[in-house]
Parts: sequence; C-alpha cells; structure tokens
Amino acid sequence: MELEGYANRLAHIDLTAGKVEYKPIPEDWARKYIGGRGLGVKFVFENGPKVDPPSPDNLLCFMNGPLTGSEAGMSGRMAVVTKSPLTGTVTDSHHGGWSAARLRWAGFDGLLFKGKAAKPTYAYIHDDQLELLDASAVWGKGVHDTIKYFKEKYGEKDLTVIAIGPAGENLVKFACWINEDDRASGRGGTGCVGGSKNLKAIVVKAEKKIVKAQDREKWKAAHAKALAEIMDERVVTSPRKGGLSVYGTNVLMNMTNVIGGLPTKNSQFTAYEHAEKVSGEYVNEHVLVDNPTCHACPVACKKEVEVKDGPYKGLRMESVEYEPAWSVGGNCGNDDIRVVAKMIDTCNDFGMDAIEIGHPLAIYMEASEKGYTGSDGKLAWGDGAKMVELAGKIARREGLGNIMAEGANATAKHFGHPELAMTCKGQGVPAYDPRGIKGMGLGYATSNRGACHLRGYTPAAEVVGNVLGPSTVTDPLAWKGKGEMNMIFQNVHAVTDCLDVCKFSTFAESLDSFAAQYEAMTGVPCDAGHLLKVGERVYNLERYYNNLNGFREGSDTLPKRFTTEASTMGGSKGHVCELDDMLKEYYEKRGWVNGVVPEAKLKELEII
Ligand code: SF4
Repeated sequence: MELEGYANRLAHIDLTAGKVEYKPIPEDWARKYIGGRGLGVKFVFENGPKVDPPSPDNLLCFMNGPLTGSEAGMSGRMAVVTKSPLTGTVTDSHHGGWSAARLRWAGFDGLLFKGKAAKPTYAYIHDDQLELLDASAVWGKGVHDTIKYFKEKYGEKDLTVIAIGPAGENLVKFACWINEDDRASGRGGTGCVGGSKNLKAIVVKAEKKIVKAQDREKWKAAHAKALAEIMDERVVTSPRKGGLSVYGTNVLMNMTNVIGGLPTKNSQFTAYEHAEKVSGEYVNEHVLVDNPTCHACPVACKKEVEVKDGPYKGLRMESVEYEPAWSVGGNCGNDDIRVVAKMIDTCNDFGMDAIEIGHPLAIYMEASEKGYTGSDGKLAWGDGAKMVELAGKIARREGLGNIMAEGANATAKHFGHPELAMTCKGQGVPAYDPRGIKGMGLGYATSNRGACHLRGYTPAAEVVGNVLGPSTVTDPLAWKGKGEMNMIFQNVHAVTDCLDVCKFSTFAESLDSFAAQYEAMTGVPCDAGHLLKVGERVYNLERYYNNLNGFREGSDTLPKRFTTEASTMGGSKGHVCELDDMLKEYYEKRGWVNGVVPEAKLKELEII
C-alpha cells in the first residue's frame, strides 16, 4: 500500500479453525474509509448484512485509525465494530485508555474475528504475532479479576487487556468490552458477540514506540496547531469555565437539568430535583480522588472516585461519566452518588453497558408504580440495593434478570406495556431529553446504531454552546435547521471515528486540523471537504447496510412519550419533540427517500 502511517497489517482470525492470517489493508478501502469505524463498517458490510449477530457468521472487528499510537492529541481510541445483537443494525463502539495505541505498537491496524472457538479462548498479541490460547481459567470471572489474571501472567508493564465479563459469556444483549482502565466499548452489545464466539479477552503486550509521520515538517506544524486548539479551548480544558478537565463529562448533569433536557424517571419528566447530588460538581467536591487520562490526551476527563461511607465504603472506581450517572441516577430516581458509583463499577465488572442497564431497571420501576408487575413484585424508584442485586441477576440471566438481559423492549413487553421502552431501534436513549434538546431527538431517531448521542453530538451546540456565548448558541427548543445540523454533526463524528480520535476533540479542533494531521501522517492530500466526504460515505454505507436489513421507511422513530407528552418542567415546559418536521428536513439534506439511500446516492459516494 502506498499510504504511509498505517502498520498495513490486519489479523483475520478464524476462531472455528483456530487459524490466523495476516493481510494488508486494501488500499482503495483505506483511502475511502480511512480506518477505525469506517474500515470496520466496510468489513462488516462485505461480510454480508443478513448474519445472525450472536453467531459464528458475524464479524467482530477491533480497529485503529491512522493517527493511533502517534503523538496526535486525544488519539487513544479503539473501535469495536460488528452487527449488533441489541438493534440488528451495524454498530461501532469506541473505548479510550491505552489499548488502541498498544495494538498499533504491536504492529496491527486491526483484528477481525469470525467463527466460534471450540472452548473459551483469548488472543495474545505481541511482536507482530497473534496466538489463540485457552481462556478456561478466566471464563466465568468478572472483568476486573480477568485483567488481574493476565497482569499476573504477563506482567503489568506494556500490557493492555480488553475483556468481556459474565454478561458477555451469558449473551446479555447489551454486554460490552472493558479494558484495564475500565474504559468501555459500551453500546450495542459487542460483548455479546464476543461471548457467542467464546472469545474472552484480547491481551496485547507492546512497548511504547510513538508512530512517526512520514512528513516530519508538515506534522510538526499540524500537531502544534491541533494541540494549541485543544489547550486553548474553553470547554475542554479550562478550570475557570469548569470544563471536562475539572468535572469530566458529568459537568453536563446540571446544565441539561436546568434547560429541561434531563430525562427523569424513565423519561416521565425532563428535570430531576436532585440532579446536583449526582453531578460532576458534587463528585468533584465529595468523592474525587484522581484524574486519569487516555494515551496522548492532555484533557484528563476521567474522574476516579472513592466511596467514603455506607455499604460500598472503600470502593474505588473509574469513572463517574455523565450518561451512566444519568442512567442509574435520575433515570431511576436515584440521588445517591455512592449507588451510582457502585452500579457503574458493577456493570464494568460484569461487562455490561452502564447506559443501557438503566432502561430495564427504570421500566421495572415505572411498571411497579403503575401496578403492571403482578407476580414479579415491585421495584421502587431509587432502591439502590435492589438495583445492584438486579444487575447481577441480569448478568447471570437469573429469574426476571433473564428477561431484562434481552433489553428494554423485551422488559417493557414482559410487563404488557411496550410503550414504557424509551428506545430507538431497540437501544435505550441516553441522557438528553428530546423535548428539551430537540436536535438530539432527531439524532436518536436517525442514528444508524439505535438511540445514541455520539453519532452526532448536537448538545455541543444546543447545550454547551449556550454556556460559551452568543456566537455558538443554537436554541435547543427550536426544530428548524436541526435537519442540516444533525447531518453535519453525524458526518463530522464519522470522520473522527475513522481517524479514531476522541469525540471531545471536535469541541476544540477544526476539521482543517484533522485534515492537516491526516495528510502529514499518510501522505494523502486532504482538506476539510475531503474528510466530510469520507464521513458522508461512512454514514451512507451504514444506512445502506441497515436498509438491507429491513430498516426502511418508518424505521426512524422516537418513543411516543417524546412526541406526544409535553414536558412539565424546566426550560422545556410545554414542549414536545417535532420529529416529523425535522425528519423531512433531514431526509432532504441527506438525499434519502424516507430513510432509504437511493442507488444514485450510493454511486455518487462511490459505495457501489
Ligand atoms: S478527553 Fe477524556 S475520553 Fe477523550 S481522550 Fe481525553 S481522557 Fe480520553
């Protein structure tokens, strides 16, 4: 391959046969899809859309981008890409920490697993080689003990471990992959796919060898500019503004609450009276003990906490993020930060999506309140002890936990009230209420991986923009213009997911900065327009894959609660989400016909 910057080496692993093949990246694919999410989606697409997600036929990809392992700021992300058992769509979920960089330093741009191992297996990667080894000793163990086992076996130095827990082994539909920094590829059930393949862990041993750009002079200038943007940006780093560096992602809790954008008690309400007690500010003042960071990131948004009293006293965990804190906090009527910390840590250890788990729990709570639960008994809002107990039952698929392990839709259906499921395409909505943050409502409905805030992070303009000042304000309650805004955000985030840099870098860096770094690293002439075209291509390829899977007209919906039950509190009082109006605008801008990509668009983007 003529492109620089890549290791140009992918491991194709057939778990059924126990064989590994090493192949270069098809150059045309590298040019069109860059890496990370884009390349992973291309491989999943070529594997065929009709595969059953938890089956040997599904492809499970762990992908890097061309900036991975370099000194590019915020470049420590890894994409896990597959067909989702939760949504039936293509999905990708990215985790931070050091796993991505170590995989690159070990000599790989990605790992592609297919088939099913005859017994529990882990992949051990070192010195440009991948071995498939027996994982029986850790099968059944939690993620934390699994990682401890491998640290003892191979030594902690230069090691990264990405593992599934009992939830993945038991095919919980929202099981995930977690690494040694408790960073999760959380959404979409990628851990369930790992479990279905008997793949317990990926262990990488690789010394730090910073990847150098082919054009050193260009790189120096591009890197310096990007770093200056990151360090200068108000939301990302400034203590004065109280941004990510100080409060982590949970700085959003109080902001969304005030504007009536915080879904509360299974989205019955749009604000939570006790939000402050589970906010980033509260964490900072009461339980914060450290601020870890990912490879090559000066921001350090992670917030490690220690529980000081109560039944979970002594628990030290990383990290209380906004969306999980919301999911098991206000969403479940829980205002106890100690329970929030315990629940997130428990989910990490079982290997479950800590955003998704709040959905079956909150459904159970609302169903209990309304008298729908019958012989299943009741779960009260904010009952922390029972929440923790149920998390274990879900991971082990015990009793009602066996139904909740299937996700929010199955749980709501079990209680006879499917309308209680706050999902899009089967995945639970995250921590932004579409009645108070309308662009996010459109974003959930049109996301290619089910309800998601990270496909197009419009709160950057609709919530955070309001804090920064008039030049960046976008009214969260207006619906006009949100179609185009979503499309742009979705395309930009597809680009950052292909480069596999942290989403938060877009708060600071311009597309020109990403383009300059990409060009210096790979030698491919690039500007913002080139990158946006890649983003559009990736988004359309995903949409095409989903269309082939039956997601067509009428698939881009929101739960009725958001479009028919007006908000009764906070800044959004009286509002519903005008999804249909926004959808019309969005499809027009995308050039789609009622959510379906026409052939002409596929040709224009060189997808077919
Ligand atoms: S901003 Fe946070 S999540 Fe992103 S790379 Fe830095 S430490 Fe990791």
